[in-house]
Amino acid sequence: MISITIDCEEWNSPYLRGRHDIDNFNTQFSYDGNTQLLKLFSKHNVHATFFITGYYAEQHPSDVLRIFKAGHEIACHGYEHHYRNRKFNLAEDVMKGKKIIEKIIGTKIVGFRAPQVQYSLRLLEVLDSLGFTYDSSLHPAYLPGYYNNRTFPIKPHSFPYLKIKEIPVAVYPFTRLPIVWMFMRNLGVWWTQRAVNKLCRRGINPVLYFHSWEFVSMKSDNVSFLFTRNTGVRFVNMLEKFIVINKKKGRKFGKVKELI
Ligand SMILES: [Zn+2]
Repeated sequence: MISITIDCEEWNSPYLRGRHDIDNFNTQFSYDGNTQLLKLFSKHNVHATFFITGYYAEQHPSDVLRIFKAGHEIACHGYEHHYRNRKFNLAEDVMKGKKIIEKIIGTKIVGFRAPQVQYSLRLLEVLDSLGFTYDSSLHPAYLPGYYNNRTFPIKPHSFPYLKIKEIPVAVYPFTRLPIVWMFMRNLGVWWTQRAVNKLCRRGINPVLYFHSWEFVSMKSDNVSFLFTRNTGVRFVNMLEKFIVINKKKGRKFGKVKELI
């Protein structure tokens, strides 16, 4: 089984790089991206997991509800989408996001992914104490100068003193090169597909992540062109191609909570 996960948040890539940009904190991009995604998922009967920030949910409660009613899993992506290099109360931020979303859908949320995949043991302890069943913030990837999580496991795992399970994001099993979002967009479907085949052969269910805003055409002078290249209809078509290839191989698409 493959899990497609969508991080749904305010666009703040320029902001995170210290750049002023008229589009910082824009939530409409993600709303419009979700419209494209819901059409695609419905066409192929795919159920996905959406990790949503509380900030986004406050602006678009009806969107959260339409995703939920379409049968997808709603999970938490924090309140604010800014976890790196910032001092804040982690438990308060998570709880704030969780409560806003649970009030909208009227159901308890069990999953979490940290903004900017800021995985840590401290995070797991906080999530465990707040009653989350799983976390999917671990991106066990190697990307020189950015990630070096080569020593972390690539399979779902638990911890001796915590109830919570960790469901890592899919990477190439040996080289640990990333295969999700901008990597699929810039390198092509084959790049992600090759790694997915390797993981499936090893009995690992690939968990892939993309962002809602990647499915609308994005332009910004304040981020690298790699952030916005092939966004919009091109990426919708790439994801559709990926779904079709894997369905032909007999693979199913399911929500992350089904992996627990
Ligand atoms: Zn995010």
